[in-house]
Amino acid sequence: MDHVEGALGARDRVGVQDFVLLENYRSEDAFIENLRKRFQQNLIYTYIGPVVVSVNPYRNLGLYTPQQMDIYRGVNFYEAPPHIFATADNAYRSMRGEARDQCVLISGESGAGKTEASKKMLQYLAVCSTHSDNVDRIKDRLIQSNPVLEAFGNAKTIRNDNSSRFGKYMDVQFDYKGAPVGGHILNYLLEKSRVVQQAEGERSFHIFYQLLAGADDDLLDTFFLERRPETYAYLSKGNCTRVSSIDDKADFKTVYSALKVIDFTSEEIEELLSIVASIIHLGDVMFTAEGDKAGIVDARPVNRVARLLQCPEEVLEKALTHRTIIAKGEKLLSPLNEDQATYARDALSKAVYDRMFTWLVQKINTSLANKEQYRKHVIGLLDIYGFEVFQKNSFEQFCINFCNEKLQQLFIELTLKSEQEEYLSEGIEWEPVAYFNNKIICDLVEERHRGIISILDEECLLPGDPTDLTFLAKLENAVGEHPHFVSHRTGDVQTRKTLDRDEFRLRHYAGDVTYSVTGFLDKNNDLLYRDLKEAMCQSKNQVTSSCFPKSELDDKKRPVTTATQFKTSLNQLMTILMKEEPSYVRCIKPNDNKMPGVFDPILIRHQVKYLGLMENLRVRRAGFAYRRPYEAFLNRYKCLSKDTWPNYYGKPKDGVELLCQAMEYRHDEYRLGNTKIFIRLPKTLFATEDAFQLK
Ligand code: ADP
Ligand code: MG
Repeated sequence: MDHVEGALGARDRVGVQDFVLLENYRSEDAFIENLRKRFQQNLIYTYIGPVVVSVNPYRNLGLYTPQQMDIYRGVNFYEAPPHIFATADNAYRSMRGEARDQCVLISGESGAGKTEASKKMLQYLAVCSTHSDNVDRIKDRLIQSNPVLEAFGNAKTIRNDNSSRFGKYMDVQFDYKGAPVGGHILNYLLEKSRVVQQAEGERSFHIFYQLLAGADDDLLDTFFLERRPETYAYLSKGNCTRVSSIDDKADFKTVYSALKVIDFTSEEIEELLSIVASIIHLGDVMFTAEGDKAGIVDARPVNRVARLLQCPEEVLEKALTHRTIIAKGEKLLSPLNEDQATYARDALSKAVYDRMFTWLVQKINTSLANKEQYRKHVIGLLDIYGFEVFQKNSFEQFCINFCNEKLQQLFIELTLKSEQEEYLSEGIEWEPVAYFNNKIICDLVEERHRGIISILDEECLLPGDPTDLTFLAKLENAVGEHPHFVSHRTGDVQTRKTLDRDEFRLRHYAGDVTYSVTGFLDKNNDLLYRDLKEAMCQSKNQVTSSCFPKSELDDKKRPVTTATQFKTSLNQLMTILMKEEPSYVRCIKPNDNKMPGVFDPILIRHQVKYLGLMENLRVRRAGFAYRRPYEAFLNRYKCLSKDTWPNYYGKPKDGVELLCQAMEYRHDEYRLGNTKIFIRLPKTLFATEDAFQLK
């Protein structure tokens, strides 16, 4: 079956399987109409050349069964209907055939289906290769690491009941025979603020609720916990402790056994879970305001935290209510007021959770590590937060959207590069395509000394009392003239009306986003008072003490700020990705209500824009809409010329040339490359396909 299959009437009904075949490829309406037609037929995947566009069906369509896997194993990319298995299979075969590392970049907004796609592709890759004890062990671990990561890194949000709150780049390593022999995970920016605060209708990370629902009575007693999450402050900020689509109790069992598979000892599991429990209790530590000094309302929660983390209670209590300052070379213990103490408590909870998460990822990596030395290749799967625009956008959205700018840049560079490379290797004249290069926006954010992140860091370092607003003023001075930056003071009259005094707006490639600077300094500094660090260093809980090494206390350097850390890790990721051969899955969410069968055209139009799909299509179509290896083309259409039918024994390229003559292609309609035919416009191909269907 070729992917133009569905000619004539069928094309009207189910649309085209590849957007490059759209007659009116510049029209967003035509694009969305094609998506809609296919979605209505449960055809959730459509190509833009090699890129898969996926629309979340919100129901099980039986698309990932072993039978489905079989369809895609070893067939050429365009010979079966569009599917992420085709992408996975293609990556796998390119890796083996060309000995080149591969990556699959999965993007889309929250709830669009990125994580599901990455899991299905991982399963496909794990299944598609040979068996041996070692291989089976690694496959198991690769697959079992998912429920663990999701328990600690995912949460119920308004948009997605199982929303990943961290970015993930997971690679699978293969040996020379193509069998998986190891894996590695890089994690990015966990949304740790969720530990202490959740918006209405949202939850904290799954593991908290799983522990309460799934642990047996003894374990709960050991942790001084009771079953009902509503009783705990940190777990009920969103007034939503139960989710109908989630079975916390069953999930706890799954996570527990997954932890075993990935080499956690019972002691380690207990230590890990006592940290989770300790954070629950930390949330219940409340402070009184006695004058200017914070006191602790009820000694029990602190006592429990201290016992669970195995650190001295007096030390912890003191660190939660005081802060050591050094004045004139002398150490002074200065009491915190109620707000400061609450702030310190929350900072501690976030830091402990965040570091525990990183520790967990490292531990998983140890268990996935490939212990053999042989030459290996990798296929990486990037499942990272998509472009985000809320009513109020803060530091987190700023980081996330910057990340998407970087990925878009990579996408542009690589797509154009690979188009260019293909034309070159096929010996066809390359016609450069004009496109918007978003490097200018990346630079605005990350350029050294002049970019927004540098200015933010500088402001964070200033002595005195820098505030979010002094930061904004500096920004306006430094980048006020930049074409992609607007603020209250720098915009034109019209724009000013739409911006508050604490806001700036970035003109992202995907559209404008207005950010409120409130909280930027704080979140970027990410301060944890030294007294609290010292208390954690004294913990006898091995996991906690390895997360808070004593060496950190002696380190005189300022800790790296959150934004700079994120920027550095993103740039490292870009370096990795640049070396690999990329494939893309672009995920779209069909509606905001997690409903099957509902196609909301307005919502989808936004995403088509944010994902840059029209631009992508334009680049792909700028030269030749359709290209296919000679063998494949000849095989399908050989019946159209008496010179090639029923049997043709010459070179495939010559056969295709005979076909083109028989079909009376005009010279400007096509080119013959070294291994492929290139057809400029879809209608040429459709005429051929229709003739074929009539035969
Ligand atoms: P993202 O990672 O992009 O935020 P998820 O992959 O977590 O989104 O998908 C959100 C939910 O949508 C899933 O929990 C699942 O219920 C549903 N879903 C996503 N992709 C598919 C799919 N291919 N088939 C069926 N349901 C899906
Ligand atoms: Mg996800």
